[in-house]
Amino acid sequence: MSTDCIFCKIVNGVIPAKRIYEDDDVIVINDIKPMAKVHFLIVPKLHVETLKDCDVTHQTLLGKVLLLAPKLAAEQSLSGFKTLINTGREGGQEVFHIHAHVFGGGKV
Ligand code: AMP
Ligand code: ZN
Repeated sequence: MSTDCIFCKIVNGVIPAKRIYEDDDVIVINDIKPMAKVHFLIVPKLHVETLKDCDVTHQTLLGKVLLLAPKLAAEQSLSGFKTLINTGREGGQEVFHIHAHVFGGGKV
C-alpha cells in the first residue's frame, strides 16, 4: 500500500470505483477515460510500481492478471480484445501501480 497511489486508494476504498471483478489478489475497474467501447483495468491489490519492479515472486500474480483478461472479456461478449501494460514514463505509464488494460468492442 502506498498512501499517495490512486490505485491503492481505490483498492482500499478510499476513492470509490465500481469493481467489475474482485478476488483476494486483484480488482478490475472500468477506465475513467475509456479509449474503446470496453476498456477495463486489471489491478493487483499489491502495490508494485511497474513491470520492471516484478521478479519471480510476482509470477503467479502476473499470470493471474493475464488469465483474467479472456475470462472478463468473454463476460462482456468480446470475441477478441487488446491487452496493454505500459511500463515507465517512456512507456506511457501514468499511474505507477502496475495494471493491465483490456480494450475491446471498437473505438468509443
Ligand atoms: P497508464 O498510462 O497505463 O498508467 O494508465 C492509467 C489509466 O488509469 C489511464 O487510462 C487512466 O484513464 C486510468 N485512471 C486514472 N484514474 C482512474 C480512476 N480513478 N478510475 C479508473 N481509471 C483511472
Ligand atoms: Zn498502489
